[in-house]
Amino acid sequence: MAQSNIEWTELTWNPVTGCTKVSPGCKFCYAESMTKRLTAMGVEKYKDGFKIRIHPDTLNIPFSWKKSKIVFVNSMSDLFHPDVPIDFIKAVFSVMNHTPQHIYQVLTKRSERLAEISNLLNWTPNIWMGVSVENEDYTYRIDDLSTTGAKVKFLSIEPLIGPVITLNLGSIDWVIVGGESGHKARPLEKKWIDFVKNRCEENNVAFFFKQWGRPKFNANQNDPTIDAKHPQHAKGGCELDGEVFRNMPEHAA
Ligand code: SF4
Repeated sequence: MAQSNIEWTELTWNPVTGCTKVSPGCKFCYAESMTKRLTAMGVEKYKDGFKIRIHPDTLNIPFSWKKSKIVFVNSMSDLFHPDVPIDFIKAVFSVMNHTPQHIYQVLTKRSERLAEISNLLNWTPNIWMGVSVENEDYTYRIDDLSTTGAKVKFLSIEPLIGPVITLNLGSIDWVIVGGESGHKARPLEKKWIDFVKNRCEENNVAFFFKQWGRPKFNANQNDPTIDAKHPQHAKGGCELDGEVFRNMPEHAA
């Protein structure tokens, strides 16, 4: 496990590493660049680079955490990648099922496979299932997610690189929005963020605005959270019309 800098979680747990790019949101994949670094440092877990690799020896780690945790599962991979064997996905779910004291956040871009095998999985309430949606072309992932048995469903609209209009939030509990970071980051527009936020408010869905990504994308150049010393600092700042939105699903309470 590792402490996480991601604003919406506490820890990461990576029983799978490696991935392949599947859509435009993958262009500047954080997991890929982090893997390159770890491989270069000689870290055994990453010796195969970004090739999919399962790590059965990591499965029992959540049993060792003394206090309840909010855990992002597979920050360095995609659990529903076609090269991850179904039996291993079931083993990961079994650990989550047997450690109800923790909340697990599982996020995928392979929503087709998620929908296909959902009925083989045990969806205990501590498993929050999410799909990434980077622009309108990938809103079908929301429909795939809606067909699953997950008790808490969420969207990661990050990096937001184009308008997302077809937002069927009927079964969705939580939406995270964020801009891309890094020097080649693709810009986002405030009206795209506002559209998603307004739909969340209309549908009573928890809205979390993670970051603008780069200060130059921020609609308010005086946003105090641009400053790295600000207690709520996030990349490029994280205020929207003077407010920070870091809502979580009610189930987190
Ligand atoms: S699906 Fe996720 S982990 Fe895999 S390449 Fe794309 S961004 Fe990276």
